[in-house]
Amino acid sequence: MNWRDFVRNVDPYVPGEQPKENKVIKLNTNENPYGPSAKVQACVQDFDLLRKYPDPAATDLVDALAVYHGVDPSQVFVGVGSDDVLGMAFLTFFNSDQPILFPDITYSFYPVWAELYKIPYRTMPLTDDFCIRTEDYTGPNGGVVFPNPNAPTARLMDLSSVEEIIKQNRDRVVIVDEAYIDFAPEGSSALSLIDRYDNLLVVRTFSKSRSMAGLRIGYAMGQKELIDCLQAVKYSYNSYTMNRPSILYGCASIADEEYFRTTVEKIVATRERFTAGLREMGFRVIPSAANFVFASHGTIPASEIFEKAKKEKIYFRYFNSPRIDNYLRITIGTDEEMDTVIKFLSNLT
Ligand SMILES: *Cc1c(COP(=O)(O)O)cnc(C)c1O
Repeated sequence: MNWRDFVRNVDPYVPGEQPKENKVIKLNTNENPYGPSAKVQACVQDFDLLRKYPDPAATDLVDALAVYHGVDPSQVFVGVGSDDVLGMAFLTFFNSDQPILFPDITYSFYPVWAELYKIPYRTMPLTDDFCIRTEDYTGPNGGVVFPNPNAPTARLMDLSSVEEIIKQNRDRVVIVDEAYIDFAPEGSSALSLIDRYDNLLVVRTFSKSRSMAGLRIGYAMGQKELIDCLQAVKYSYNSYTMNRPSILYGCASIADEEYFRTTVEKIVATRERFTAGLREMGFRVIPSAANFVFASHGTIPASEIFEKAKKEKIYFRYFNSPRIDNYLRITIGTDEEMDTVIKFLSNLT
């Protein structure tokens, strides 16, 4: 025996590549091409900001989010990106001998947290169309987590099906990871259900729709009792998780609703146009409610397109995993970027 026998060994989550070279068309990590609001930029000058410790409760940001979403501040929990919030939620709510449930094709961080925290888990296969089957989430379990829209498929589950899963699991916590919900049709969010279900936690991020992936802001909303449980775990680990710039810039982003709406609408319009273009070239495209599409070509293997694109400095995301190894996940960039992609693909097909 030696110390190696006592190490907590994990296979870490592997994020998409961040190429060092300039002038690439980077469509591999679902970043938003438009950048944060100018209101955020206006706050960047304040250097004295860095001198003092932040407010451990991030009160300003919690209050701004509460007003924005029409909930009480006691129903909001903020963290360092939604990865931090989700990791904290796994640690807090998934503490049973029963396996937690999530789809077989989903955000690849879920099994990593489960392994890290020694949470038993079971994956539920999506249908051949990549739909979640609500009836798979009815048996005994230790909790449920899924993204809506799902990643990397981009497919949205309708709100009544989401509610069905929450209803079937009243004595377990159900986490709905809404990283991409701002790109989905109005009325798709489970946020409208939190007052009715004390077992529902809705998780959001500033990384995609607010174009602030580099800053790391995520949050969760649910009934006060759930949020209190999350706070207790957080304050038992590290009180100062959110830095002062994040709190300030986060508030500034929330304050610019017009810019937010305009850029989200632009991405949705580009997504629809790009999807039509892909279909014309013989791609199967899963209907997307996110800022990316999941697509597979009828004859050209995805791995081949992925490699050829990279040579042209166009970065897509490719997952060499069962059932999805012939698909590409393509982030929606600017119209100009997507036109270049269409041109590149049409030369292949
Ligand atoms: C991007 C993403 C996240 C993490 O976002 P953060 O940058 O950590 O806020 C969480 N869940 C899903 C499904 C995502 O795609």
